[in-house]
Amino acid sequence: MVVLPSPFSDISRVPLMYERPSDVQVLNRLTSKLGCGATFWIKRDDSNSGLAGGGNKIRKLEYVLADAIAQGADTLVTTGGIQSNHMRQTSAAAAHLGLNVALFPRDLVPFNDTEYSYAGNVQLNQILGAEVFPVDTSEEEVIQTLKSRGNQPYPIPSGASLHPLGGLGYARAAFEILEQEKQLDVNFDTIVTAVGSGSTLGGLVAGFKLAENRGLLSRKKRLLGFSIGHKKANMAEIVLRIARTAADKIGLKAEDITEDDFEISDEFLGDAYGVLNTRTMDGIKELARAEGILTDPVYTGKAFTGLLSMAKSGKLATGNVLFLHTGGQVAMSAYPQLK
Ligand SMILES: *Cc1c(COP(=O)(O)O)cnc(C)c1O
Repeated sequence: MVVLPSPFSDISRVPLMYERPSDVQVLNRLTSKLGCGATFWIKRDDSNSGLAGGGNKIRKLEYVLADAIAQGADTLVTTGGIQSNHMRQTSAAAAHLGLNVALFPRDLVPFNDTEYSYAGNVQLNQILGAEVFPVDTSEEEVIQTLKSRGNQPYPIPSGASLHPLGGLGYARAAFEILEQEKQLDVNFDTIVTAVGSGSTLGGLVAGFKLAENRGLLSRKKRLLGFSIGHKKANMAEIVLRIARTAADKIGLKAEDITEDDFEISDEFLGDAYGVLNTRTMDGIKELARAEGILTDPVYTGKAFTGLLSMAKSGKLATGNVLFLHTGGQVAMSAYPQLK
């Protein structure tokens, strides 16, 4: 049972995940294969929900969609790259709650495989009944169209991150992790995640800061994000802003959060957002073959490759390292070059 301090506990949330915390598992075979001194763990937010594959956006949408419902919205409006996991999870959550969804994808990724334009998340959006506007339609145009039909649109920014409630899902996840530490009798010294639009890491930063502030944290954690899109300085600025917005809502002051509360690396983003390179493919296969666990080509594969590289170069020599698996495997079939 996750217990949140007040006033965080008063903020409404619509349950979209399984009722239990997402699993935390130890990666025994990988840990002994790497043999670097640290023990590696994984938190399975890639299977946190029964809704169309789940993933980290489901966790954020628990707070965002509670607000959409409170506002009387009937149509969720959101965007992302063509293979956006966020659009797919929003489509699934909308169907689950009896809402419509309108998507306006953006052409962000130079792709060669035709599968990119129809397989993976694109296929699932259609099955889930999303209305998909042509690529690069503007948000304004979508909202106008919906209003002219008499709908009540509710816009959600890309990845739900810049939504005022976007960081709350992962702020809550911080308390879930603390609860799991007690049950497993372990302390996670380092937590590693992929960073895209920023509210997964930003939310964790705010949540752990609240725990520290209320005396619930025995030792400060190292929170490390591997950026899969923005360069380091830009990404850090976005994460800081999101963490501060969340902090202000859950019982802290915005200034309680500083740039020293987290780290960003952009060394593993590869050529560009959504573009796969050989190093990432090797990292994906290394985890898959050591543990039978799949990461995704756009986010977790790159972040896990970063983690592997740190372990191998002696930068993770002690303690317990928790990799937050944020999902995304649905996009695998859009990347047939990965094999
Ligand atoms: C969106 C996404 C991320 C990045 O999370 P942000 O909160 O946008 O930084 C990581 N992994 C997967 C699989 C995602 O879909």
